[in-house]
Parts: sequence; C-alpha cells; structure tokens
Amino acid sequence: MKGYEIMDKKGYPIAKIVGFSEHQVFIYCPYCGQVHYHGKAAGPGHVASHCLNPIPEDVGYMIPNFDTYDPVEAAELENLAKKAKRKASWIRMEEIR
Ligand SMILES: [Zn+2]
Repeated sequence: MKGYEIMDKKGYPIAKIVGFSEHQVFIYCPYCGQVHYHGKAAGPGHVASHCLNPIPEDVGYMIPNFDTYDPVEAAELENLAKKAKRKASWIRMEEIR
C-alpha cells in the first residue's frame, strides 16, 4: 500500500500522519486505508490500529514523530481514504474542520 513500505525494527509499519487536532493525531491506517485518531499525549510510538474490521496481519503500527507530517503527502492520503468510502473514522476528521 502506498507509503507503507517502511517497517521499524520490530516489523511494525510506520504510519503516516494526516493531521492534528488539539489533543489528537490523525493517522492514515496501513491496514484498512482509513483515518484513525490517537491521543497526542501517547506521543510517537506503537499503537493498536483501531480498524473496524481488523485483518489477521494487523499488529498495530508506529505513529511517527510529529515533525514528519507532510501536508502534501497528507492531502494525497486523505484523498485515498475518501475514495475508500468507508467513513468510519473519517467522519470524525471532517467534524474538526
Ligand atoms: Zn485501520
């Protein structure tokens, strides 16, 4: 899947950040292609995926350092998520804008 060739040393995919709210970081999920949110307070690191329909390969993913956020790349990933048309977490993303 686009953008998720990179794994960390433990084999966790290193996810991409698509945005922030005051207390949350929004992540493009390498498993389901949807946007999930996680508390910023947890910081960069390993988290569970929050997929609505988890797949067997799901071992969670790594939230990268917040300074890796790239607005151009984020916009591309948001468009991919929209095209998937499964609005689970995406609705929350829209609500904050
Ligand atoms: Zn997911």
